[in-house]
Amino acid sequence: MDRANVVIIGGGVVGCAIAAAASAEWSDVFVLEQMPKIGMGASSRNSGVIHSGLYYTPGSLKARLCVRGSEMTYKFCEAHGVPHRKTGKLVVATSKEQEPTLEKLMETGRKNGVEGLRMIDAAAIRKREPHIAGTAAIEVPSTGIVSSEELVKAYARIASDHGGDIVTRAKVRRLERAGGLMRVTSDAGEIEARCLVNSAGLFADEVAALMGSPMAKHRIYPVRGEYCEIVRSRSDLVRGLVYPLPHAEGLSLGVHLTKTLWGGVLVGPTAHYIADKNDYESNRPPVEDFVRMAQPMLPEIRAEDLVPAYTGIRAKLAPPGGHHATDFVIEKDTQLANVVHLIGMESPALTSAGAIAEYAMEMIGEILN
Ligand SMILES: Cc1cc2nc3c(=O)[nH]c(=O)nc-3n(C[C@H](O)[C@H](O)[C@H](O)COP(=O)(O)OP(=O)(O)OC[C@H]3O[C@@H](n4cnc5c(N)ncnc54)[C@H](O)[C@@H]3O)c2cc1C
Repeated sequence: MDRANVVIIGGGVVGCAIAAAASAEWSDVFVLEQMPKIGMGASSRNSGVIHSGLYYTPGSLKARLCVRGSEMTYKFCEAHGVPHRKTGKLVVATSKEQEPTLEKLMETGRKNGVEGLRMIDAAAIRKREPHIAGTAAIEVPSTGIVSSEELVKAYARIASDHGGDIVTRAKVRRLERAGGLMRVTSDAGEIEARCLVNSAGLFADEVAALMGSPMAKHRIYPVRGEYCEIVRSRSDLVRGLVYPLPHAEGLSLGVHLTKTLWGGVLVGPTAHYIADKNDYESNRPPVEDFVRMAQPMLPEIRAEDLVPAYTGIRAKLAPPGGHHATDFVIEKDTQLANVVHLIGMESPALTSAGAIAEYAMEMIGEILN
C-alpha cells in the first residue's frame, strides 16, 4: 500500500493551494479529487472576484485571510501568468436611506485594513460607470478579477512540479484509523496518510462524518447562485465591478455586475437554499428576476439583454433563516490527531486560498514535524 505524508481530499482551489505549499516542504503529497478534472466544484463556478476584505467581521478568519489572500493572489498571478486584472469596484447605495449602511460597511473595511477606500457621490459614480444609478458609492481600488480555472490549475501545476500527485476520478469512500495513520480508500485505490486534509468543499461535512469525526457537527447547507450574462451588443452597460449593498443578514453579497476577463458582463449570483448538493440547474429563476434585482443599479437593463449563464453552489454553515455571519472552520480534528479540516469554505475562499494554505500549513507542520 502507498504511504503518504499528506493526503488532501478535494482538488478545488483550496486543496490545490495547500498541495502547492505542502509539496514544497514534504515528499509524497497527494490530492484525491472525485471528478475527472480538478476545480469543477465551486472553484470554477463563481464570480472570479479578488475580494478586498470589506464585508467580514473584524478579526475573523474570513477578514484576516481575505486581506492577506488578496495580496498573495495578485503576487501569485503575476509570478505564474494567471490572467487577472485589478479593476477596483463600486459598492452602490441606490437611495439616501441606504447611505448609513454604506458608511458602516466602509468602517468595517477600514477596520479590516482595506486600503484606499473612498466615498464618492452620484456624479463621480456616473463618471466612472455612465449607466449606473446611485446616490453614493464606496470606491474599492484593491478589488479585481481572476480566471478561477487558471488559478486552480496553476496551484496544481506547482504541486506537480514539486513531485506531488494530483489524482482525479478518486472519490474517497472510506476513512479509518490504522495505527497512527489514516487509511484512505478511494476509487483510485488505498493509501495510508501521516496527515489527512479534508478540503472537500460542499462535501466536507460528509467527509468528516465518513471518518466518524465530531467535526461533522459543522453541517453544510447548499445555497445555489445563478448567473445571467448581458448580451454582447449591450456589454458596454458596465465597465468594471458594481455591487449593491450586501444582504443585511449576510446570506450573500447581492446580485452584482461583473465585467469579466473575456469582456462579457455577468449579472448574479442569486442566493437560495436547495435540498440537493448536486442540483445545479433545476427550477432556475427567469431572467425577469435578474432584471428586477439589477434594475435599481442599472435602470436601462431589460429582459432581452440577458441570457442565462452558469450556476454555483455555496458551502454555507448557516441553516435557512439562521444567522449568516459564520466564519471559515480551519481546525485540527478534536479526536483524530492527524487530520485537518476546512469546512464552510464559501466566499472569499477563492481570494483567500493562498493565505488559507499558509494557515493550514501550520497545523500540517505540527502533525508531521
Ligand atoms: C456563486 C459563487 C460565487 C462566488 N464568488 C466568489 C468570488 O467572487 N470570490 C471569492 O473569493 N470566492 C467566491 N466564491 C467562493 C469560492 O468559489 C469558494 O469558496 C472556493 O472555490 C472553495 O474552494 P474549495 O476548494 O474549498 O471547494 P471546491 O472548489 O468545491 O472543491 C472541493 C472539491 O472536493 C471534491 N470532493 C468532494 N467530496 C469528495 C470526495 N469524497 N472524494 C474526492 N473528492 C471530493 C469536489 O469534487 C471538489 O472538486 C463563490 C462561490 C460561489 C458558489
